[in-house]
Amino acid sequence: MVEKDKKRGIHRAREAGAQSTFRYPKLRIEAGDRARFWFLSNGEDDHFDGARFHLFPRQTRTGKVYNEEILCQRLRTDGEESCAFCDEGHEDMALRFSIWIWVEHILHLGDNPDPEGEAWEQTRLAPEGNKKGRIMFKEMVGQPMLIWMAYGKEWVWFSQFDAILNKYGSLEGRFYELKRVGSGMQDTDYTLTMLKAAKLPKGLSEKIDAVRVPIDQIFAESVTGAGSTRRPTPLGAALPDGEGAEAAAEEEPVEEAATTGDEIPEEAPAEEMV
Ligand SMILES: [Zn+2]
Repeated sequence: MVEKDKKRGIHRAREAGAQSTFRYPKLRIEAGDRARFWFLSNGEDDHFDGARFHLFPRQTRTGKVYNEEILCQRLRTDGEESCAFCDEGHEDMALRFSIWIWVEHILHLGDNPDPEGEAWEQTRLAPEGNKKGRIMFKEMVGQPMLIWMAYGKEWVWFSQFDAILNKYGSLEGRFYELKRVGSGMQDTDYTLTMLKAAKLPKGLSEKIDAVRVPIDQIFAESVTGAGSTRRPTPLGAALPDGEGAEAAAEEEPVEEAATTGDEIPEEAPAEEMV
């Protein structure tokens, strides 16, 4: 809140120019990270959805390459609605699925990288066999976020969510972990694990209701956000530096791994989730 008062003049102007049209918090985890969470969807409601997106490579001024993802409305509506990008012959597309979750904390391999931030509490993972569990650094989160992922090669990532829903009949009522290994396009993998049967703590509904809109609406906003000023720009078109780059980076897709491996050159940001 203090931050807000500070931003004036050129600082606010810069921020406005760099503001992401994606205004929902996406979960971003790096190699070795483990996000621990509850699903805010039973698996068969509006808070879990998937669709096909047009991918437009963009680049920040600092050279970070990422894809802007815009929903294909033609495929979404089985051809009932037209899609400006399909009409233009754009064919670089990928599937994404998204789910609302309540992230309790994220375990990292290292301590808080923010020199001004507080140190994260250290915690030891359970031992594996006779191997001592490793020390991890626990970042408390406590907010709703979106898992926004590629389906993975042969749907291997998506299938884990499917399998859990089949096994338990609902995604609710249990505490989960999503772990990432690898950081590149080819070696990144995600593992979803059920940790324990436990209900979402009470008293969170106000925070949840404030941001949890149907995924369908979030998908649709990718199209409206792409109008005029947000028209996808060709690779090389610059976004502002500094905070701008950060804001843009937040829109980055989770790595597509091998499904459409040629969509981004080698500079694909490693720390992004999809
Ligand atoms: Zn389309």
